[in-house]
Amino acid sequence: MTKVLEDFDLTSYNTFHVPVRAEYFSSFGSMDDLLELSSHFGNHQKLIIGGGSNLLFTKDVGGLVLQNKIRGIEIISEDENFVFVNAGAGVVWHELVLFAVNHQWGGIENLSLIPGFVGAAPIQNIGAYGVELCNVFEELEAFHLKDREIHKIKKDDCEFGYRKSVFKNKSKGQYAILNITLRLNKKPVFNIGYGAIQKQLEQMNTGELSVKAISDAVIQIRQSKLPDPAVIGNAGSFFKNPIIDFESFQEVKKIFPEMPSYPAGEKIKVPAAWLIEQCGFKGIRVGNTGCYKNQPLVLVNYGNATGSEIFEFSERIIQTVREKFQITLEREVNIF
Ligand SMILES: Cc1cc2nc3c(=O)[nH]c(=O)nc-3n(C[C@H](O)[C@H](O)[C@H](O)COP(=O)(O)OP(=O)(O)OC[C@H]3O[C@@H](n4cnc5c(N)ncnc54)[C@H](O)[C@@H]3O)c2cc1C
Repeated sequence: MTKVLEDFDLTSYNTFHVPVRAEYFSSFGSMDDLLELSSHFGNHQKLIIGGGSNLLFTKDVGGLVLQNKIRGIEIISEDENFVFVNAGAGVVWHELVLFAVNHQWGGIENLSLIPGFVGAAPIQNIGAYGVELCNVFEELEAFHLKDREIHKIKKDDCEFGYRKSVFKNKSKGQYAILNITLRLNKKPVFNIGYGAIQKQLEQMNTGELSVKAISDAVIQIRQSKLPDPAVIGNAGSFFKNPIIDFESFQEVKKIFPEMPSYPAGEKIKVPAAWLIEQCGFKGIRVGNTGCYKNQPLVLVNYGNATGSEIFEFSERIIQTVREKFQITLEREVNIF
């Protein structure tokens, strides 16, 4: 049977680098491995992880932690306009982006350099620079951990929304995602209206607009703005941008007229980074944790933080923001 390790140190399996242990740990690179492990550990709690870049462990993990290592990128069909690409859940997300970029297929170039594995991308419907996974997503295959059956799940059944999906809500913890299929565009439609992409492209002076130019611009912006988890532990944005109804927005705007906002359907999205900064958290350090100096949405581990210390700090931010703005921040990072 695939090797299973007991009392396993997960420090290097989460990008916060918090030191917790798994009761049992293993990885699977094929469906056969997963079937074997799931039957052997039938009664144990199972947690599937990828690159550990969107989770915070606040305590040791009971049961079996399984890292998905199913690899492979395959073109499954194509026509004049589109190509359908299937990728194993254990492929590093940015490798898939580079695969598309090298073929000049459009759709995921704005999602360049998001850490983690392909299998986690649908969990929170990853998004950046005006693009979300759901814009190109077709379907996925997932193993139901209790029923021990493979399910094919189409886009509509994934219930994608802003940093959410059915896998973060009613189907939470029930599946091991095995692979996903994306529809990429042979005639790319460029999306450079968001954030600093346009400005970065001008600075880079890349000439003709291309999938690669956009990917390069996004990579440069991200590298200049976000802390590298290999250097300073973090899991990217810790909170979602709150979406509030128009009436509540008008009330709070009376008190804070300078509050930035964006339309989100019939509601209003408020940048969480602004709210946190207004509460004085930007760049502050509390013990071993704090808010990153360039981006207060990112909580960091200065070296020796425990998961519960980071969690407590996030609680303090939520409370302070609520008291000042009557807006409740929701965590984007998965807490275990
Ligand atoms: C510096 C930095 C920048 C980031 N920027 C962005 C960004 O711009 N946009 C964005 O959306 N996210 C961003 N993130 C968050 C993160 O990169 C993504 O959410 C990513 O998809 C997580 O992938 P992972 O493999 O590391 O998942 P993990 O952290 O390992 O897991 C995340 C969740 O998915 C579940 N899961 C993982 N794999 C599977 C699977 N195969 N089957 C079932 N469940 C699974 C886990 O149980 C967990 O609940 C950033 C993170 C960092 C550190």
